[in-house]
Amino acid sequence: MGEVNLSQVMDRNQSFVDRVIEESGQDIRQCYQCAKCSGGCPGSSEMDYPPNQIIRMLMLGMKEEVLNSRTIWVCMGCNTCTTRCIRDIQVAAVMDTLRQEAVRAGYVDKAQTVLNFNDSFLWTVRTFGRLFEPGMAMLNNLKTGNYMKDMQFGLPLMLKGKASMFPHRIKGRREMKKIFDNVQGGK
Ligand code: SF4
Ligand code: SF4
Repeated sequence: MGEVNLSQVMDRNQSFVDRVIEESGQDIRQCYQCAKCSGGCPGSSEMDYPPNQIIRMLMLGMKEEVLNSRTIWVCMGCNTCTTRCIRDIQVAAVMDTLRQEAVRAGYVDKAQTVLNFNDSFLWTVRTFGRLFEPGMAMLNNLKTGNYMKDMQFGLPLMLKGKASMFPHRIKGRREMKKIFDNVQGGK
C-alpha cells in the first residue's frame, strides 16, 4: 500500500462508509481494534489484511484498498469474528456488504473464482430447484477453463451413492425461476 492522505480520503469516501454502515447494520465506529476477530479468523493466513484491519481501513474511508482486497473474497462467512467481537459488531455482515459493494463498483479482479462458483451453484438451483453437484462442478470448470478439475472424484462418489449423474428436479421449478427473476431481474 502506498502513502495515503487520510483526511482527503475520509472526505472523499464518507458517503461510502455511511452506506456500508447502513446496509450492514453494523456501527463499525464502535470497534476497539482489539483484533479478537482476526485472532479467530480461519481465513486470515490467506488474507492480505486481517478482518480488524479491514474495519480500521473502512473507518478511515479507504474505499479502494478495502474493495480491492483479497480479504473480502477469502472470507467464507463463518461468523467466528462475529461471535468473538467484544463490541457486538457483526464483522461477517460487514464483509458481505463489502462484497456487494465491490461487485457493484466493478472491483472484481480478485473475485472471479468466487463469482464463477456462485454463478455455477445458482444456475443449478435456478434450473432444477436444488443443487446438482456434478452439473455445478462441470459448469464451474467450463467457466474457469480447468476442464478436468476434480473429475477424478465424480465416479467414486456416484458409485457410493453420494452423487447422482442426473439432477433431481423439484415440482415448483416455475416458482423457483420466478424468485430468481425477481431477485436477479431475469438474468
Ligand atoms: S466470517 Fe470471514 S472474516 Fe469472519 S472469521 Fe469467518 S472467514 Fe474470517
Ligand atoms: S473483535 Fe470487534 S472490536 Fe475487536 S477489532 Fe474486531 S471488530 Fe473491532
